[in-house]
Amino acid sequence: MRLTSIVGAAAAAGVLVLAPSGARAQAPAPAGQGGQPQQEVKVTTTKLGGNVYAVDGQGGRIEALVGPDGVLLVDTQFPQVSDKIVAALKGISDGRVRIVVNTHVHGDHTGGNENFGKLGAVIMARPNLRKRLLNPNPGANGQPTPPTAAVGLPVVTYDQPMTLQLNGEEVRILPLAPSHTDGDTAVYFVNADVLATGDVFRAVGYPNIDRANGGTLAGLLQSLNTFIDVSGPNTKVSPGHGDVTNEAAVVAHRDMVIAVRDRVQKQITEGKTVEQVVASKPTADFDARVGNAMASADRFVQQVYAELRGGR
Ligand SMILES: [Zn+2]
Repeated sequence: MRLTSIVGAAAAAGVLVLAPSGARAQAPAPAGQGGQPQQEVKVTTTKLGGNVYAVDGQGGRIEALVGPDGVLLVDTQFPQVSDKIVAALKGISDGRVRIVVNTHVHGDHTGGNENFGKLGAVIMARPNLRKRLLNPNPGANGQPTPPTAAVGLPVVTYDQPMTLQLNGEEVRILPLAPSHTDGDTAVYFVNADVLATGDVFRAVGYPNIDRANGGTLAGLLQSLNTFIDVSGPNTKVSPGHGDVTNEAAVVAHRDMVIAVRDRVQKQITEGKTVEQVVASKPTADFDARVGNAMASADRFVQQVYAELRGGR
């Protein structure tokens, strides 16, 4: 049932999922793992509103603002699909990518940076994201991760909100509290009424508070409230992973995070170990609705426990 819902969600979003990695959020980039045959990936564009499109291929969702001033991309997916992304953009624009905004450091969102940098795009992100691209954490297997080449690094960095005027759109760049990572950004397209959240909000699976990259539960809740503040009843909320959805889904997600937090806190107060708390399945009644729960519920509970317990 859970698997069905993942595949169904991907299909509804227009994604052709041919590899299980398509549903993984922070999977290491498959590029460079020699010997693996490259899976066929189809890149699709779906209009969200105004001149803003969802671009789905391999990795986290991209949002693209198109028009005569050139293309602005939110995130860049994995490097091996950059050519296909450009080809897909040429179906809705002249394909000239001028600006990239990175929502966070993970490779499924920044992996294409070097390719788009070489094409002349100006990359924008938080200073912490830039630092982490230069000095990445080791991969899940303990292997060192190579730093991003200079051409793929952010040129414009910010820790304050700013607004870009492009293609008749007002693009609000919203730096967030440390949530999924410590370099999170959301992007709100005012006229199109589209909010790109990166992985701070995901429409499938539990949140990933990536503590190794500076993520925090407290910041995550603050950012979800920011999304609720920014959104109106008609806003299209475009998450890093999962279907494009709406403000009500963010409210439900935030309330779920608060409920799980309170359950974990209660058990910490009772002196329970992290193993005991995980075994008690404090997310159980949310699992069916959240989807892909098997992959992310225990990790989320462990992350919540670790922060509430005060250890790093
Ligand atoms: Zn991520």
